[in-house]
Amino acid sequence: MDSLVQILVADDSPIFRDMLKKMLLEWGYEVITVPDGRQAWEILRQENGPRLALLDWMMPGMEGAEVCRLVRAGIRDRYVYMMLLSVRAELEDVVIGMESGADDYIVKPFQVEELRARLRAGRRVLALQEQLVEAREALREQATRDGLTGLWNRTAIFDILQNELARSGRSGKPLIVLMADLDGFKPVNDDFGHMAGDAVLRQVAARMRASVRRYDAVGRYGGEEFLMVLPGCELPAGLVLAERIRDAIGSECFRAGDAEIRLTCSLGAACAVAPAIPQADDLVREADAALYRAKRQGRNRVEAAAGG
Ligand code: GH3
Ligand code: MG
Ligand code: MG
Repeated sequence: MDSLVQILVADDSPIFRDMLKKMLLEWGYEVITVPDGRQAWEILRQENGPRLALLDWMMPGMEGAEVCRLVRAGIRDRYVYMMLLSVRAELEDVVIGMESGADDYIVKPFQVEELRARLRAGRRVLALQEQLVEAREALREQATRDGLTGLWNRTAIFDILQNELARSGRSGKPLIVLMADLDGFKPVNDDFGHMAGDAVLRQVAARMRASVRRYDAVGRYGGEEFLMVLPGCELPAGLVLAERIRDAIGSECFRAGDAEIRLTCSLGAACAVAPAIPQADDLVREADAALYRAKRQGRNRVEAAAGG
């Protein structure tokens, strides 16, 4: 259970340091030893530094409690579980030690099994914290992704558009918005069932994602409507990309169970060019109007907004 966990040991006594190192290695830890607090801080602050630390209280230069204070004030991206080691056993010392940010405090000399058990308790805290971070990530994922297709959802793609427009305003680079809508999608549900419709939507999403560049964003804006944000793209290049998407959807049939389903899509493009960077909803409205024109003119085609 202890394997592959890095632990930092800071102690100015070489004998004590070596004894701890030997013990911890035996328990399966990966051990880094340093002789003073300053070096302890230098190692803990590194990216992907150790998340467990045994710190002697009294060391020349920087003391263990000071390391605790620096870690708590300075390391925000992960939790470091710190245990102070000290010969000072007064209640007041323990309180000062914990107040400095230590998670635990152990008085020298101690029983080996006690240290081992306390380290395990520390690992439980770290494991819990990791679960919390993962749960938060999962929530963020849920809040920004469309459940059916895995594309950005409406809120997220709109946020991305707003950010990219702001960036275009600063950099002077143009930006394209594409609005795509499947042609005659309702009959797919009517003829093959809603499940088949869902399967087609997932495949549509995959083809769209595969058609754009790596830094373009694709979102599901509504039922069978998709919004794409293409940063740094002029209108001619945006129209080429839109044609590529139209082709990716229309040239090969979709499969749902045994059914082979042919579909096309219509697209509207709108361009933002600095310094006249529009509001996100105005740009989307322009793309939507162009899309509507593509529909009216017979579907399976790309239209550009008048202003673009
Ligand atoms: P048009 O060419 O004018 O766009 O015709 P259309 O049939 O695609 O347009 P319409 O807006 O009338 O129909 C869209 C259909 O998309 C209606 C709805 O049942 C279907 N739809 C929307 N969201 C989903 C979904 O999540 N799953 C499935 N299976 N169908 C969906
Ligand atoms: Mg449609
Ligand atoms: Mg629609």
